[in-house]
Amino acid sequence: QNFIIAIDGFSSCGKSTVAKALAKKLHFVFIDSGAMYRAVTLYFLRESVDLEDVHAVQEALANIHIDFVPNTEKTQLMLNDEDVSDEIRMMYVSDKVSEVSAVKEVRHAMVAQQQKLGKRRNIVMDGRDIGTTVFPDADLKIFMTASPSVRAERRFAELAAKGEKVSMEDVMENLAHRDHIDSTREESPLRQAEDAFVLDNSDLDQEQQLAIVLEEYTK
Ligand code: C5P
Repeated sequence: QNFIIAIDGFSSCGKSTVAKALAKKLHFVFIDSGAMYRAVTLYFLRESVDLEDVHAVQEALANIHIDFVPNTEKTQLMLNDEDVSDEIRMMYVSDKVSEVSAVKEVRHAMVAQQQKLGKRRNIVMDGRDIGTTVFPDADLKIFMTASPSVRAERRFAELAAKGEKVSMEDVMENLAHRDHIDSTREESPLRQAEDAFVLDNSDLDQEQQLAIVLEEYTK
């Protein structure tokens, strides 16, 4: 029987950092579900897909092939065989990703693919609806939170490290915008699963977070 760890929470709560560390420690496969929505968004932006046009959305989804390719350094995200790992992190993708992710057809396609990725192997998957919709029977569910200022600072530092010139205001606005859409959309909105372990990491470093989560895992 394979083991599934679901990590959910609002944007920039440090989910993927914990998820990656946990997967490494346990020798599980880490899957960043947000990266999949970002890749779909990039494709939709490039092809100017009209989100209101169900037919166009379905046709676009049929033409999208997403793959995670593990590498020594990091896992590459391939969109139709093109490495888009860096591009999907750019602000113009972040600005549109929540609108695209709120489209029912997009969610259905991604959830189905995510469930497939979790078949017969041990995984740590992070996102917004993993413990509620994708794997409601996950063996361990973690809901991460952090104070708004800590979250904004983290995202800001991340973008600055990549050389993207954005202001702190832009970052805060983007986080608030995504949180709002993610938690109010009709289809699988961001919710804390009832049986999730809540981890507020505002004042915790990475080692402390990993230790707490590992303790939950071994319980
Ligand atoms: O995790 P990340 O911040 O990269 O996710 C980008 C966006 O993708 C989120 O703001 C959300 O709109 C969407 N998303 C989602 N469901 C998931 C993961 C991400 O709707 N499971």
